Amino acid sequence: MKVKQNLRVRIDAEAMERIWHWTDLATGEFSCLATVADDIIVGAVQLFDQVCTSASTELDQDALAKFLVTHPQPERVRAWIHSHGRLGVFWSQQDDACIEGLANDTCLVSIVVNKKREWKARIDVWQPLRLTFDDLPLDISVPDHNLRAECERLFNAHVVEQLPMLLPDLHGVPRHPFPLTPNYRGGWPDFDDDVADWR
Ligand SMILES: [Zn+2]
Repeated sequence: MKVKQNLRVRIDAEAMERIWHWTDLATGEFSCLATVADDIIVGAVQLFDQVCTSASTELDQDALAKFLVTHPQPERVRAWIHSHGRLGVFWSQQDDACIEGLANDTCLVSIVVNKKREWKARIDVWQPLRLTFDDLPLDISVPDHNLRAECERLFNAHVVEQLPMLLPDLHGVPRHPFPLTPNYRGGWPDFDDDVADWR
């Protein structure tokens, strides 16, 4: 059932980096929670107290409650991320149970990763219908550092764009009747049919 096309999960680059570090550090599994902003952007991943084995990570209800009580925006904590260590990425029965345990009135983003840098992402909603959108694309959201003006200044200072030298055609006549100057900055000339037919 396709309710919304182009549904995808985005995650802050910083959040993704933390997840990969913790995935590398954990011998087996680990879990973390994260906030979800509008437009389904996962950010601010945080660890909470947990006991993990090589094959399981249990969401300790006391630790979870403590985490949410002390969180400044508990209503924004809508992502659960966990690693399978060296195993593949899939949703185990325990994972499904864990997701049900995190049921809420908006949505839950779940991401499972492993040490091979594989991942799988899904979104679950419970209201007004119980739906699961699985195998969603996961885009890394690169921060905008407002570098456009600086990049433009440096580009103009250092880069001279030269049109490629065009080889004469078979008749020995250049195909394009405009001058090729070394400092040409005007962009490509507009070709119309007359010019394109010029020969
Ligand atoms: Zn799992």
